[in-house]
Amino acid sequence: MSTSTTTIHDKQLGIFAEVKSTNHEQVVFCNDNASGLRAIIAIHNTVLGPGLGGTRMWNYATEAEALNDVLRLSRGMTYKAAISGLNLGGAKAVIIGDAKTDKSEALMRKFGRFVENLNGKYITAEDVGTTTKDMEYVKMETDSVAGLPESMGGGGDPSPVTAYGVYMGMKASAKKAYGSDSLAGKRISVQGIGKVGMHLVELMHAEGAIITVSDINDESLKHASAAYGTKVVSGNEIYSQDVDIFAPCALGAILNTENINALKCNIIAGAANNQLADEDEHGNMIKQKGFLYAPDFLVNAGGLINVYSEVIGYNRENAMRDTEKIYDTTLNIYSVAETQNIHTQQAATMLAQKRIDDILSVRSTY
Ligand code: NAD
Repeated sequence: MSTSTTTIHDKQLGIFAEVKSTNHEQVVFCNDNASGLRAIIAIHNTVLGPGLGGTRMWNYATEAEALNDVLRLSRGMTYKAAISGLNLGGAKAVIIGDAKTDKSEALMRKFGRFVENLNGKYITAEDVGTTTKDMEYVKMETDSVAGLPESMGGGGDPSPVTAYGVYMGMKASAKKAYGSDSLAGKRISVQGIGKVGMHLVELMHAEGAIITVSDINDESLKHASAAYGTKVVSGNEIYSQDVDIFAPCALGAILNTENINALKCNIIAGAANNQLADEDEHGNMIKQKGFLYAPDFLVNAGGLINVYSEVIGYNRENAMRDTEKIYDTTLNIYSVAETQNIHTQQAATMLAQKRIDDILSVRSTY
């Protein structure tokens, strides 16, 4: 081995190995000493279109944690866009820092300039730790931004559209399990009645469902009881309710071995991202238990569909109509999973990857 090769090996940081293993197209590190900006933009796949994904601002303990998060989240966006039939790729950005104390107009605008440098390959939006106000600052430096307030021609709060998509996935699941998609008289438990969960409760209540909820916010619980007659349970009790449908709308990774063993339901359909603690282990466990699991990245895609509508010229009716298609896609995924004897998350990922491969092949000739 030559001396120079040894030197390169010795100095390897492992970043390329990580990016290679997730098959990302491009990862951009952004630094600005004046504003204190430290950001990473990860573009996973742009076969279907520009990579769209929000910017998360988080006080990561280490840089490795930030890189890991942005790689994982951007890959997830590729599959969410693909399964939803959108002409969008997958990307995401993270800003390292405390959203309460480290954010400034200069920092967000500098970030906007880095996004602009990518010439439309990445479109950003708000996420955990960033707001529509931050996106207004980003917009001052680039047009590659969505998730703007309605007053600026944006789509506003995506949560009602996300809730509608979850509702569609839930109804399709009921159709599969019971032969009818009516939720009238169905017992449904909801973990987390925040922006999405509360809209979902409203839709289910209007159809005559009997609803049990849990949340850590007393105000939300009081509102849901008064407006929709919901029963309230606390903490882990939500997992063991004797219900038809369980809707996780708060935290990720709650479908772990212990909680799945506690569940007494036929269907799991909710808005929370990354519900399966371990995709394969718990996807298979749910399958073996005979529960229908509506893949999270499909049924919670209404928010992304809303943002996409903003990119092509915002129209809430179009966004709702496109979100309604989650019903048919959910049924298709159940059918593919059954025919191929695989778990539903696997079926959804497979169909998303197939769409990417098909379109790649369409574009293989001039
Ligand atoms: P939110 O913060 O408005 O609501 C979350 C709710 O969960 C809050 O009311 C919170 O008090 C509650 N909660 C937190 N910890 C809890 C616990 N241990 N037990 C019970 N409740 C708890 O967020 P949201 O916008 O409604 O999003 C909900 C989930 O859906 C998140 O996982 C989010 O990533 C995902 N999601 C949201 C959208 C969207 O359009 N908002 C789109 C896609 C996915």
